[in-house]
Amino acid sequence: MSPLAAEQLERGPRPKILVVEDEADIRELIRYNLEREGFSVEEAASGAEALERIKRRAPDLLVLDLMLPGTPGLEVCRLVRAEKATATLPILIVTAKGTEVDRVLGLEMGADDYVVKPFSPRELVARVKALLRRASGRGDAHRAGTWERGRLRIDYDTYQVYVDGERRDLALREFELLRFFVEHPMRVYTREQLLDMVWGRDTFVEPRTVDVHVRRLRQHLERDDAKPELILTVRSVGYRFNPEALD
Ligand code: CA
Repeated sequence: MSPLAAEQLERGPRPKILVVEDEADIRELIRYNLEREGFSVEEAASGAEALERIKRRAPDLLVLDLMLPGTPGLEVCRLVRAEKATATLPILIVTAKGTEVDRVLGLEMGADDYVVKPFSPRELVARVKALLRRASGRGDAHRAGTWERGRLRIDYDTYQVYVDGERRDLALREFELLRFFVEHPMRVYTREQLLDMVWGRDTFVEPRTVDVHVRRLRQHLERDDAKPELILTVRSVGYRFNPEALD
């Protein structure tokens, strides 16, 4: 067992991962590698089975194949996000369809990260760990409390965001990106810097992922997301958060 696995065991109950994949050998490969790292693994061979298991007891993280019989992975993703109890459940998409369109679609449906088949088990495990670390960061004392300015209120304890008093359901990574912007107003950041600070160096996502998340945040936060005032594009550099637009 790796040192991290041992450390995880000492800290308390093992994080529970639900692996949703119809191909038994791939499911087995993922299970083997996650269990070796000290995770508790459950399996589902279809979207319907996954949704039923999640309803009974939500896992700490979902590894979700896109190509499933019956309910497709993206629909599972959407349904999990739409449910209050699981709105921020970390989701790692596994896809054989490596085209840009599919990747972007996966993130727009609320997935937090993805790997493309054929993936290396090490990469998958690294991403699972990174997502869990970020998710557990929610409980950090220095981040507790609420932040409020004008139209926007962020509750760091419950991970809820309100715009003009109306609750918005943000995916985990969208929330993290918003938090970063709020904590670093008016400064310009490149996509690469945002990737490093919000996604972490141990993930392997493309800079374009930042654009997708910014677009989603704008849809949630801007008065008119075609004319953003809050998250500004700084041409050929990156993005800047202007909290004055909230007043
Ligand atoms: Ca499949």
